[in-house]
Amino acid sequence: MPKRNAAIANIKASYLFPEIAKRRREFEEANPGPPIISLGIGNTTEPIMPHINSGLIEGARKLGTAEGYTGYGDEQGIPVLRERIARIFYPGIIAPDEVFVSDGAKCDIGRLQLLFGAGIPVTVQDPSYPVYVDGSVFIGAAGAFEGSGYKGITYLPCTKENGFFPDLSMLPEGGLIYYCSPNNPTGAVSNREQLTLLIKAAHKTKSIIIFDAAYSHFIRDNDLPKSIFEIPGAGTCAIEINSFSKTTGFTGVRLGWSIVPKALKYSSGESVNDDWNRICTTIFNGASNIAQAGGLAALEDDGLKEMERLCDFYLENTRQIKTTLEKGGISCTGGEASPYVWAHFPGRESWEVFSEILTKCRLITTPGSGFGPAGNSFIRFSGFGHKENVEEACLRLERYLLKI
Ligand code: PLP
Repeated sequence: MPKRNAAIANIKASYLFPEIAKRRREFEEANPGPPIISLGIGNTTEPIMPHINSGLIEGARKLGTAEGYTGYGDEQGIPVLRERIARIFYPGIIAPDEVFVSDGAKCDIGRLQLLFGAGIPVTVQDPSYPVYVDGSVFIGAAGAFEGSGYKGITYLPCTKENGFFPDLSMLPEGGLIYYCSPNNPTGAVSNREQLTLLIKAAHKTKSIIIFDAAYSHFIRDNDLPKSIFEIPGAGTCAIEINSFSKTTGFTGVRLGWSIVPKALKYSSGESVNDDWNRICTTIFNGASNIAQAGGLAALEDDGLKEMERLCDFYLENTRQIKTTLEKGGISCTGGEASPYVWAHFPGRESWEVFSEILTKCRLITTPGSGFGPAGNSFIRFSGFGHKENVEEACLRLERYLLKI
C-alpha cells in the first residue's frame, strides 16, 4: 500500500466541530430532556430570500432549455458576475480580471495554499478560523504539533489586553499572514489605522496577507474598512477572500470569490495572479452555474437589500445574546459588526465552560480554545439561529447566569 502523506500525519486531532458534535451526541444520549439549542457552529438557518432565490430558480430553469443551457463555464466565473463584484464591492480599486469566483472561501483557502507550497512561514491571529492552520499543515507548511501549536506557524495573540489587534513585531520574513476582519471567532473588527499598520508590516517583512473578509457585509459603521483594498499599499501585498455564504444563506449553495491583484508579485517578480489563474483553470472547474445565477440576483438592487435584511436579522440575534451575557456579568466583545460574541470566563478552561453551559442550559456553544491557545477561557456564541430558538437560549442563559 502507498505511504500516508507525512504532512497529514502531523494533524493533531479531529477538527473542532466534529468534536463538538460528538460531545453533543454523548450528552443527549445520556441526558434526555428538552431540545438542545445550538449557538455553536456558524451555519445559516434562515431561508434564502425571494429575489435571490428566484435567481437560483431561473438559473436551474434555463439549464432545461436549448437556448439557456450551459455546460462548463469560465473557470474564473461568469464575466458579468466578476464585473459586478468588482464594481459593487471594490469600485475603482479592483478590475474584473482580478476577481475569481469560487465555490466558497474555505475551498479558496485550500487552493491558495498551493501557490506557496511546503515550507512557507505562516502567521495566524490567535485565536483564528481553524482552516488556516490545518490547511497549512496539510500542504507541509507547518510541522508537528509541539506544546500548544504547530512548528513553523507563528501565532499572534489577540487578547483583551491588546484590543484583539496583535503585536506585529514577531512576523517572519517572506511568509503568509492570515488575517480575518470582522474576526471569527472574536467578532473584533480592525479599523483603518490597524489595517494600515498590518500593510506596513507586510511590506517590511516582504510577506503576503491573505485577508479573509467573509463577514465584511455585517459591518454597519461606514468608517470601518470592509476590504483590505480600501487601504493604500494593499494591492502589492494582499489577497482577499470573500463569500456569499453568510449574507445570502448560500452556505449549502456554495459561492464565494477571491481577489488577487495583478500588481501582486512573488520575490522572483512573477505574477501571483497568473499562477492563481493557472491553479483555478487546472484543478477547479468553476462555481456551479446555478449558484452564479443566484449570485447575480444577489448583486441586483433587490438582492442587495435582501442581503442587508438577512445580515440585520442575524445581527439582532447576536445583540440579544450579547445583552443577555452582559446582564449576567460576562464581559464580551464582537456582536456589533459580526455574527459572533466572544465571551470571557476568566480563569476557566473553555471546554469546562462549554460542558457547564451544555449541562445547565442544554445549549451548544464553541469553546474558544478550539481556535487557538489564546482562545482559552473564552466561549464563542453565534447569532445564527431561528428567532424563537435564540430567544429561548437567552432565557436559559439568563436563568443560569443569574442563578435563579
Ligand atoms: N472564513 C471564515 C472566517 C469563516 O468563518 C468561514 C465559515 O464559517 C469561511 C471562511 C468559509 O466560508 P465559505 O462557506 O464561503 O466556505
